[in-house]
Amino acid sequence: MTPFDTAVSRDACAARDTSDPLAALRDRFVLPQGMIYLDGNSLGPLPRAAVDMFSYTIEQEWGQNLIKSWNTAGWFDMPLRLGDRIGALIGAAPGQTVVCDTTSINLYKAVCAASGLRSDRDVIVAEAASFPTDLYIIEGAMKSTGRPMKRRLIGADGPLDALLDDRVAVVVLSHVDYRTGALMDVAAITEQVHKAGALVVWDLCHSAGVIEFAFDADAIDFAVGCTYKYLNGGPGSPAFISVASRHQAAASHPLSGWWGHAAPFDFDRDFRPDAGIKRFLCGTQPIISLRGVDAALDALEGVTVAALRHKSLALTALFINRVSTLLPDLEIVTPRDPTLRGSQVAIAFEHGYAVVQAMIERGVIGDFRAPDIMRFGFAPLYLRFQDIWDAAEILAACVRAEVWRDPRYSRRSAVT
Ligand SMILES: *Cc1c(COP(=O)(O)O)cnc(C)c1O
Repeated sequence: MTPFDTAVSRDACAARDTSDPLAALRDRFVLPQGMIYLDGNSLGPLPRAAVDMFSYTIEQEWGQNLIKSWNTAGWFDMPLRLGDRIGALIGAAPGQTVVCDTTSINLYKAVCAASGLRSDRDVIVAEAASFPTDLYIIEGAMKSTGRPMKRRLIGADGPLDALLDDRVAVVVLSHVDYRTGALMDVAAITEQVHKAGALVVWDLCHSAGVIEFAFDADAIDFAVGCTYKYLNGGPGSPAFISVASRHQAAASHPLSGWWGHAAPFDFDRDFRPDAGIKRFLCGTQPIISLRGVDAALDALEGVTVAALRHKSLALTALFINRVSTLLPDLEIVTPRDPTLRGSQVAIAFEHGYAVVQAMIERGVIGDFRAPDIMRFGFAPLYLRFQDIWDAAEILAACVRAEVWRDPRYSRRSAVT
């Protein structure tokens, strides 16, 4: 049975929910009554267990135990401990991942380190369609290498094949395109980059926790990603960085803070990096926010990424099928081929902003990415097939009612 077969009726969707082996996971999250949340690719919902974990950390560990908690509550080791748990989700053996800082900062460290490992080369390749912070960070990292660097952009300057040569030090790519939802062939691209003698940095922001990734099996060099999207760690929760063991001893980056020192409590005058992944830490980490990641990873206990991916594809297939049935004129820009699709569906529509606003008013939360993309994220941990059916109906109702004629749906907020 292909996932499309479920698209026959709302009752069929409800029946599919009843037999869904992941259905019970929904109870692990706080989901407001009457809301269909299709924005877990921007900010995941609150794991129920996070509330108690946050209050215990605040009232007991901080309130009562104070500084002792660095040792007794395991605060100091949290970046490594959580890093190994995320490593398990992305196919990275322990000792290669730490949870810390933001994706932007971790990307900076990764690009600087990768460039340093290829110091005889002077080109960084990235995608013109990257999430903008990735491009901005690459610009900054290029200035930090201490040598003149050049940037080539996939899309603007040509396809990847045409841009790879013996000048390329690093290629930075997103596993899933944040706008279109297109999924990259990680194994093939990584092999191609390696053949050209360059290193690869994969940005997993739109795949960590929902799509399989084979960090070790595909011989990935570096990966970064955030924990507040499909991983549900909370607003601004710390990100992660993975660095292959084979690179760690020679990998260095400019943010040489004391948490990356081999012996931070020796208070040496000179920086001596930790031998392993800890060298990618910089300074004191936000413990309360790290607890959000801790609780979010607990909410994934007993679930495989393969099972999440399987349901995610069924959800996106159902939505694509319903939207193309109800609104055949809309342009779905996300690939229909499941092997090329992430966990979101993007629809290009000139009145997309107003339609998304009208849908939000009707309880379906998606988002909008300029200039004209309506974006809907499908998180298999807590979404039901009936939610997808209803969301497509509400989208169709908004488009048919031409909601963009009402000026109140066109007012823009700072965050879209
Ligand atoms: C969400 C996202 C980021 C976010 O970076 P922050 O430093 O957490 O703001 C970076 N890259 C991509 C591809 C993203 O989707």
